[in-house]
Amino acid sequence: MNCRHCRSPLKHVFLDLGFAPPSNAYLNQADLQAPETYFPLKLFVCDKCWLVQTEDYARSDELFTKDYAYFSSTSTTWLEHARTYADLITKRLNLDSNSFVIEVASNDGYLLKNFVASGVPCLGVEPTNSTAAVAEAAGIPVAREFFGQDFASKLVKSGKQADLIIGNNVYAHVPDINDFTAGLKTALKPGGTITLEFPHLLSLMRLNQFDTVYHEHYSYLSLQSVRAIFAKADLRVCDVEQIPTHGGSLRVYGCHAADTRVDGAAPARILTEEIASGLQDPATYQRFQREADKVKNNLLAFLLEAKQAGKSVAAYGAAAKGNTLMNYAGVKPDLMSFVCDAAASKQGKFMPGSHIPILAPKELRERKPDYVVILPWNIADEVVTANAFVREWGGKFVVAVPVLRIF
Ligand SMILES: [Zn+2]
Repeated sequence: MNCRHCRSPLKHVFLDLGFAPPSNAYLNQADLQAPETYFPLKLFVCDKCWLVQTEDYARSDELFTKDYAYFSSTSTTWLEHARTYADLITKRLNLDSNSFVIEVASNDGYLLKNFVASGVPCLGVEPTNSTAAVAEAAGIPVAREFFGQDFASKLVKSGKQADLIIGNNVYAHVPDINDFTAGLKTALKPGGTITLEFPHLLSLMRLNQFDTVYHEHYSYLSLQSVRAIFAKADLRVCDVEQIPTHGGSLRVYGCHAADTRVDGAAPARILTEEIASGLQDPATYQRFQREADKVKNNLLAFLLEAKQAGKSVAAYGAAAKGNTLMNYAGVKPDLMSFVCDAAASKQGKFMPGSHIPILAPKELRERKPDYVVILPWNIADEVVTANAFVREWGGKFVVAVPVLRIF
């Protein structure tokens, strides 16, 4: 296999998590009687452009056959993050009723509703019907399409280019990152700005966040790899911010390569940090598997001990990262009896692979588990606050990443 960005042969394995079903392939009761499709879950690092990427496998088109069940608006932390960003960028770029904003992967309109409210014209690009319908019902224009060079060209032909193109947690999820980036270039007005948020590979490695690895998450990005990908598309990273979402993300600001604006100081600083942390040395990447295995083994030891002591264990948050962790650790309902999730679209279903049933959060009160393992550790504070009543019967919370913590 060759690198998805620079086409160099991939020689270094970064992480091998065995086989897993697609992380969003939540199952109905009837699906439990049918075979389940597993795909290899393995990451490589390119030693030319340092893009960490999933292995290509056969029949990857099957990954998106099920309707995507994630609605951004179900997380209050995420809604607040979106509102704060909209305020900040509107001021920074002086956006007004003459501007045009595009958000790629606009989901249920969790972000664009802020621009609609302040009278800034916008367009969401979202291929998933269920989430797009929610956004449209809230008055947000949505193109139900995949973003890339084709879509961007159509947009330009219709006489439109954007002052601001936003991509929050989509850049790592596109299979063809070069085509996507070429689309950004095409759809961007002269003098326009791109902002992309994605989990920072450096945080993933420092904080053992191997459970953020799943098939639909094709790229694991450092600033150095994004700079290379932008440069090839005749774009430039002109600034960057470190933000706390998803356990440590970057918000990259991009512009046309020939744009005359002065670059911020942060890109050079973060590049230096990446290089000092060994992100240009294959050996650094090869050490990561051991760290991932430590997290998995400690979780299993906890679950087995709890089982032997006759304690009950449930989980909170049927997120993709929970699926990766459960499947890599081989956890089944005998060790974790159920998982609660606030998203009604997931309730009554089962987690792929592990077949752990997904129930409404009120079941915590009914069943009173001794331990609640919070799978989406990035919103652990929010989960603990909303479910503080667990302590009424002596229940404890557990987080497995970056190290096992019972509290
Ligand atoms: Zn490469």
